[in-house]
Amino acid sequence: MFKPFPLLEKSIRNQFLKTLMTLIVVFLITMLTFFIYVKSSNQSLQKERDSVREKAVLVDELEESINEIFFRARGYYAFQNDQELNLLNENLEEFEILLGKYSELRLTKEERELYNELVDFHKNYKTIILPKAISFVKANDYASLRKLSNSGTNDLVNKFVSYTKAYKKKTDVDLNQIFTKTIEQAQQFTLIALILSGLILFLVTVIMWRVLYNLIRPIEQLTTATNAIATGRIIDLGGLVQREDELGILTNSFQNMTKSIQEKEEVLTTQNEELIAQQDELQENQSQLQHSLNQLQKYNQLNHALTFTLNKQKLVENIHEYLNYIHKFDTSILYLLEGNVYVSKGLTNKSTEHLVGNLDENKRVRLEEEQSFVITREVVPEAQGIAQESYYCYDLYSSVLNSEGQLVAVMMATREGYPYSNQEIEDLNGLMNRISIAFERILMYEEVERSRQLNQNIIDNVNEGIQLVSISGDIILINKALCRIIRCQNRLEGKTTSQQTWLEHFQTLSDQPEELTSFFKKAIIENFKDTRKIRYSISQDTPVFIEVYATSVYEDMEKVGTIFVHRDITREYEVDQMKSELVSTVSHELRTPLSSVLGFTELLLTKNLKPERQKKYIETIHKEAIRLTNLINDFLDIQRMESGKQQYNMQSLAIDELAIEIVNRFRHEKNHHVHLVDKARHINVKADQERLVQVFINLVGNAIKFSPNGGDVMISLENVNEMLQVSIKDEGIGIPKNDISNLFQKFKRIDNSSRRKIGGTGLGLSISREIILKHGGEIWIESEEGQGTTVYFNLPLGNKPLSGQTIKVDDLDDGQIGLNVMIVEDDLSLALLLSEELKSKGFTVIHHNDPKRAFEDALRVPLVGVVIDLMLGDEMNGWDLVQQLKETSQTSRIPIVISSALDEAKEEVEKFKIEKYFTKPYPPEELSKILVTFLLSKSSNGNVIFPEEKRE
Ligand code: ADP
Repeated sequence: MFKPFPLLEKSIRNQFLKTLMTLIVVFLITMLTFFIYVKSSNQSLQKERDSVREKAVLVDELEESINEIFFRARGYYAFQNDQELNLLNENLEEFEILLGKYSELRLTKEERELYNELVDFHKNYKTIILPKAISFVKANDYASLRKLSNSGTNDLVNKFVSYTKAYKKKTDVDLNQIFTKTIEQAQQFTLIALILSGLILFLVTVIMWRVLYNLIRPIEQLTTATNAIATGRIIDLGGLVQREDELGILTNSFQNMTKSIQEKEEVLTTQNEELIAQQDELQENQSQLQHSLNQLQKYNQLNHALTFTLNKQKLVENIHEYLNYIHKFDTSILYLLEGNVYVSKGLTNKSTEHLVGNLDENKRVRLEEEQSFVITREVVPEAQGIAQESYYCYDLYSSVLNSEGQLVAVMMATREGYPYSNQEIEDLNGLMNRISIAFERILMYEEVERSRQLNQNIIDNVNEGIQLVSISGDIILINKALCRIIRCQNRLEGKTTSQQTWLEHFQTLSDQPEELTSFFKKAIIENFKDTRKIRYSISQDTPVFIEVYATSVYEDMEKVGTIFVHRDITREYEVDQMKSELVSTVSHELRTPLSSVLGFTELLLTKNLKPERQKKYIETIHKEAIRLTNLINDFLDIQRMESGKQQYNMQSLAIDELAIEIVNRFRHEKNHHVHLVDKARHINVKADQERLVQVFINLVGNAIKFSPNGGDVMISLENVNEMLQVSIKDEGIGIPKNDISNLFQKFKRIDNSSRRKIGGTGLGLSISREIILKHGGEIWIESEEGQGTTVYFNLPLGNKPLSGQTIKVDDLDDGQIGLNVMIVEDDLSLALLLSEELKSKGFTVIHHNDPKRAFEDALRVPLVGVVIDLMLGDEMNGWDLVQQLKETSQTSRIPIVISSALDEAKEEVEKFKIEKYFTKPYPPEELSKILVTFLLSKSSNGNVIFPEEKRE
């Protein structure tokens, strides 16, 4: 318990307080005395300074007053002004007052004498001199006045003035002396203050030193004694014990404590020894506990594996590891009889593999009967190794049996010189039973997994999308087909997907989000036995149409979910669409010609008509019959092509010949000008001529049909990317951008007012596409509404051009290759021959057989020359064309070559300045040569050879 510290007379605290108090008292008295002394010295100096100043001021005022008196007296004498006299009297009174004040000051003897003189002067002046002077002034007796003035009054005044001046000087000296005195005094005070401070500092130091000596030293002694005790020594503190202050008490307590520690130390040492013994025991227990804990952990791991592992290899490894930890085998192996599952310790791979496959039949039977047994054998001397004596080896065999008592797994383990206890064998058997259950569980799981996988495979390989939804609307199962259809990209796959998530997906995907969502929601909530369905579509590049069926799934009469089957019905939908388009086309395209056939035959049958009328009606009936035949042919063609029954008779074909033939076929079109621009150097393809003609007829037919206001139809041949590219360009109504991609589908037509009058089946383009694809080419359309259409197709070249082959004329520059030459010729074979020759030299050939059209084209296209046959159409012959060309300024400069079977008509040749006249037959190279010479001569002499307007 804490004892209060006794109050001591000589305690350190008391000593310290006393000293401190004395110090404070001495300090305060000294400071006070010093302060009073300084203050009184300052005050006496101040007084002295004030009296000197006051006297100086009064002397100044007296001087001023005397001067004023004389100034007023003179004023009065001079001007006899009474005002001045009054002021003079006032000054005399003031002078008297000042004299009174002066007499009250402390005056020296000399000053007192002066004072007496001044009093006399004042009295004398006031009573005698002034009244006399006034009477002189009044009597205007200035001579007596002057006499009076010089009678000695002035002497006194002058004496006083000199006194004041001397006095001022003295005052300054006095003040300076007082100031010097003040400074000296201040210095003295500072010195005294410094000495006092030094004294106080000295006193404090002495006191501090005393405190240190009295306090710190004994504490140091005590510290040394404490340290000594810690090292077992004892130090005598004799002097300190005698002290009557706190330190004396502390030393006494310290000595008592030392004694008590020494006594208790022995007891503690004994106790400590006991504790050390107990600690050893505890450590022993702890390591035992640790061992048990490790064992438990291993057992726990094994338990976990036995309960949860679904992998046989892992399970076998876990069991093997545990058994080795518990039983410390030297070598061991654990393997399953089925499947290549095993694990071993201390054995090579080879021995392990050997042991796994070759269990002795007898041992196998024994294992099935006994579960575990041990074979003890003596180790042969060769195998004893470094062992000096013979010893035994213990081979343990243990089995895992399934529920039917069949052997499932075998454990073989060997320990050298360390037998198995009965307890070990018992534990092992118990464990093997548990392992058997774990194996059965894995086998069951594998069986379930196999059938689940089978089901999944079946579901995934079904073409329909399957979606199983729980009663709460979450997806439980979804197959790949559905993912493909709705493009879910794993988003809806995997674990369960909430109703909200997959419904949102369908909402963003489908074109009918609301109907579809309400269908799904109803199907999930409601109980129904039948099948419900709805259709929805997904808009993408090509729209997809889906039909989804919903069926409730029941378990014990209770609804547990809903199954949705999504079927892609795009194809069926398209077929439906096509059917309705077909029906409308057929009904229109059949009805129109049939109604005119019926109408006209009825007219012919019922009425008596003139022969010309009859002929006209029969012609119409014939035309409509042809239209019907074409329609039926189209149907049959597409049907044949789609069923793959169309035969293609592939042969080498020159497309330019075919194109010229096509141009010829359409030569009688009144409003449309079909012509050919042939830029292709390689024109041979492998194709079925009849089918290609069909393509040309369809495309050129469309170009004419969909240019109701007439216009040019240009067939171009070109070599692009080692293919032959054909284009058919018109100036018709064009096609809206969005419709272009759909037009190759069967029965697809654009339904708008501008086209309704134009007949058709919607089959032409799809037939053409089928044919071109079969030829290894492609077909496409470029068009702008109102601006005309170009349909392109390309075909692989029959005999590919040899790389590096040059076809230009030596004299011709590169830039001149590809220049346009027009051939106006109705003989197809000659036209072809000439065009082949010209193309081989790098010219582009524009072929016409109608001179009228040729002229129109010559106005539009820049030409390097025109080759004209003379015998052309009925309306216009070659000379007519020549004339037209020459007479039209735009075309007059184009060089003309005549190619005719007629002899040269000199007159016309000269008249029209014909450049060259070839009489058929002539070698085609001549033609290209002459054209090249035109080019060279015209370009060198700067003549213009193209119609000028067309040049830019
Ligand atoms: P059809 O000509 O019998 O209608 P097609 O398959 O040949 O059938 O053509 C399909 C549709 O493509 C036509 O109905 C027409 O609307 C459009 N079309 C084809 N060629 C042209 C063209 N040159 N100019 C404008 N529209 C065209």
